Amino acid sequence: MKLQLFNIANFKVDGGAMFGVVPKALWSRVYSSDENNLINLTLRSLVVETAGHVILIDTGWGDKQDEKFFRHVKLSGGEGLIEGLRKRGYEPRHITDVFLTHLHADHCGGGIKRKDDGDNYELTFPKATYHVSLTQWEWAIKNNPREADSFLKENIFPIEKSGHLNLVEEEGELFPGFSLNMCYGHTPGLMIPVIKYREKTLVYTGDLIPTVAHLPLIWNMSYDIESLKTIEEKQRLLIKALAESYILVFQHDEFFECCNLEMTAKGIRAKDKFDFSSIIS
Ligand SMILES: [Zn+2]
Repeated sequence: MKLQLFNIANFKVDGGAMFGVVPKALWSRVYSSDENNLINLTLRSLVVETAGHVILIDTGWGDKQDEKFFRHVKLSGGEGLIEGLRKRGYEPRHITDVFLTHLHADHCGGGIKRKDDGDNYELTFPKATYHVSLTQWEWAIKNNPREADSFLKENIFPIEKSGHLNLVEEEGELFPGFSLNMCYGHTPGLMIPVIKYREKTLVYTGDLIPTVAHLPLIWNMSYDIESLKTIEEKQRLLIKALAESYILVFQHDEFFECCNLEMTAKGIRAKDKFDFSSIIS
């Protein structure tokens, strides 16, 4: 198995929205914000090569929406989706599988691009199967007022139209050494990849635990649809991750890529924080 992690881009989001009920006086001590209360988040994608598959986990925002949309998102830095893959030796046609943790626009938008004529859409990764959980798919196409800004039709329906959509119905192994946990608190059918790599187990915590600062059980995003479920799901994952010495890999943390865990008087927290490169070297 070969693993590579790269940051597609940084974007900004309201710090209060990212930390839910936690007062700014507390979260601002561990995650810095700008004068408008915005915090920087990364969009790290993981590429997993195993058993003849080249799997890309999540695809960032993409570039289909208008200038006004991206003025709001405030993209900066990062390597870019295609450029980041290219730097690691992959052209879009090399990707055999796109694993979408869920269909919020910052996770799936890069998987669909505008056709050259500008009016239509096509897969960014023309040979890939796009994996989405059945629960998330049915939830996203129905849509709802809370997530309407996140479920964008141009990110979703072209996947189905392409015939490349695989709806994942259950937890468990999807590829050799690559399995998934199904979660429901952030959005129904959020898939969290769990990867066995050499002697280690890595969890790509996605929007269940977006940054190291989100390890405390009640430090959760106000975007979560059912916060009590998020708490339960985090607790279950953290207990297992501590007992089995998992490494957590963060999609959105500007400051830290990975950590392991320890039990403290306050609960399960990060022990060592480190770069992904130290896992694979
Ligand atoms: Zn999300």
